[in-house]
Amino acid sequence: MNHPAIISHLATAHESFYLYDAAQIAANAQRLQRHMPSAHFLYSLKTNPNPHVVDCILAQGLGVDAASVNEVNIGVQHGLSKRNIQYSAPGKPLQAIADTITQATLIADSLGEVARIAQVASEKGICAEIGVRLNPNFTFDGQGGSPSKFGIDEDDFFAQLAAMRALPSLRIVGLHLHIRSQVLRQDLLVRYYQNVLALAERVQQALGTPLAFVNMGAGLGIPYEPTDTPLDLADFGSAAQGVMQAFAAQFPTTALYIETGRYLVGGAGIYATHVLDKKTSHGKTFVILANTLNGFIRPCLAQLVAQYQPEGTPAPSEPLYICKTPAQCHVLHESATQETVTLVGNLCTASDVVAKDVLLPTLAVGDVVAFTNAGSYAAVLSPMQFSSQTPPKELLLGVDGKIYGG
Ligand SMILES: *Cc1c(COP(=O)(O)O)cnc(C)c1O
Repeated sequence: MNHPAIISHLATAHESFYLYDAAQIAANAQRLQRHMPSAHFLYSLKTNPNPHVVDCILAQGLGVDAASVNEVNIGVQHGLSKRNIQYSAPGKPLQAIADTITQATLIADSLGEVARIAQVASEKGICAEIGVRLNPNFTFDGQGGSPSKFGIDEDDFFAQLAAMRALPSLRIVGLHLHIRSQVLRQDLLVRYYQNVLALAERVQQALGTPLAFVNMGAGLGIPYEPTDTPLDLADFGSAAQGVMQAFAAQFPTTALYIETGRYLVGGAGIYATHVLDKKTSHGKTFVILANTLNGFIRPCLAQLVAQYQPEGTPAPSEPLYICKTPAQCHVLHESATQETVTLVGNLCTASDVVAKDVLLPTLAVGDVVAFTNAGSYAAVLSPMQFSSQTPPKELLLGVDGKIYGG
């Protein structure tokens, strides 16, 4: 784990806190841009909208993948162009469509939403240039679509295309697909990009004109378990570049977008907290930590899943559950001895378990522990109002070495 001295120092002032590493976030963004120069990258704000994190990412020239009016406004406040604020979410309220239609590129998520966007545009006397999210007839694992609450079924889209094109207040200029997150297999990602761009080609044939953009969604995974192998960006990037360049040779005016949240910040955040109590019960040692389920919920949810399915590999259900140990626990002091403990939180619920029967350096009240992989789907998912405890701070270690957000 990086920066143990800084974490220990910050722990003298804060009971529990997140620390995001600006240099690591910037390096992650630059690595994507360097190895996939044919793509524009959009930061998926829902993963971590902390203003310091957002500043750091947008300083690298990324756009935003927004899932609400408030997220669109983050992009607007950063002065992003309409094309670089893509608002994609199921069930956009009519008011949200009206509030964002001139600021963001709306991605219609259903045929009904296409009609509602056209209606709002017509009332405003404008022509909305939109994208549509499709639910394709392929999956990451092969052919054949499946029912989804997201997007318009590919077949329905082609069947309704003529009717949509007849709407005077709306033009379809882009395509959005997203069917899976957290993929570590580069062959699957590359095949997915191929499938997306082949579908984009069919859409362009049907439209008779090139699309302004194709947003290929997310998928880039990060290592969570110690046994996970990270994507080799040099190798993966060159394969992905091959696919994108072949498309660009035919359609040079169509911009290609990739969305990512966790690749940028997932591994660039830690969650640190204190030991508040320690006790034994019927032969088991419990270490009670501050703000766990209500501060960083993902490892607690993993324990909950493991409780119901102790054997095997339960299917991921992102962003709530990915694997059995989605965060590694580090003890921030040297200790000559180790012991097996169960790490729990200080909420009045027995479900507040972070790690069960783990061998760690011996812990005492006042010690600090830090969990990895706390940059994405961490603070945002945690029920911080539960028990009215003081929520953890969110801090950023700047590239200048200063701490922001304290
Ligand atoms: C959540 C989400 C993302 C971000 O996924 P990561 O795995 O964090 O990169 C991207 N696109 C869409 C449509 C999403 O819903």
